[in-house]
Amino acid sequence: MKEFVPLSAVHCDYDDVSGSRPVYLTFDDGPNPFCTPQVLDLLTQHRVPATFFVIGMYVADQPELIRRMIAEGHEVANHTMTHPDLSRCETAVVHDEVLMASKAIRSACPQASPRHMRAPYGIWTREVLATSARAGLAAVHWSVDPRDWSRPGVDRIVNSVLAAVRPGAIVLLHDGYPPGEERLGTDVTLRDQTVRALSYLIPTLQQRGFAIRPLPQLH
Ligand SMILES: [Zn+2]
Repeated sequence: MKEFVPLSAVHCDYDDVSGSRPVYLTFDDGPNPFCTPQVLDLLTQHRVPATFFVIGMYVADQPELIRRMIAEGHEVANHTMTHPDLSRCETAVVHDEVLMASKAIRSACPQASPRHMRAPYGIWTREVLATSARAGLAAVHWSVDPRDWSRPGVDRIVNSVLAAVRPGAIVLLHDGYPPGEERLGTDVTLRDQTVRALSYLIPTLQQRGFAIRPLPQLH
């Protein structure tokens, strides 16, 4: 039986020590050849950084997107190799899922140095934390989840982020979808709501005094 850990054991947000009202944008389940470039274009347009928790098996197919993320000042982080529920995996598989994803990222872009890890579905066990720590990866969860993957509507995504956001918040969004899962929408519509919501959220967060920042490097 795997030992689950409380969310207090992982980063759900960060203390606003500087008083600069930071907010952290994170994107899971990419890179995706249709959605990720749209997200990157928007981030460039607004000159804000983000962290992409990528799935290793997609990285090999889209190495140029990993290189683009790094070239444009974003962080590429680890979201495992194939996106399993790690609490249901053997120890050796947990180890491979984490280490192979970091290796795939570095193979795609030698300048990329994954420093953060997010467990698929946000399911954290002692074993996942220990494996991540040994691989030099800090565990990052989230504090704001608008469930954009379910395509609830642009307004709902925007409103749930604005209602929940606080200084130091980590916002969870998606620029892809996990392998083997039912896909809601075509390639074109898959993350169109996320992209449209983001185009409104970035300037609105800034108008409200938030500063969109890269994840802190605490180790
Ligand atoms: Zn995921």
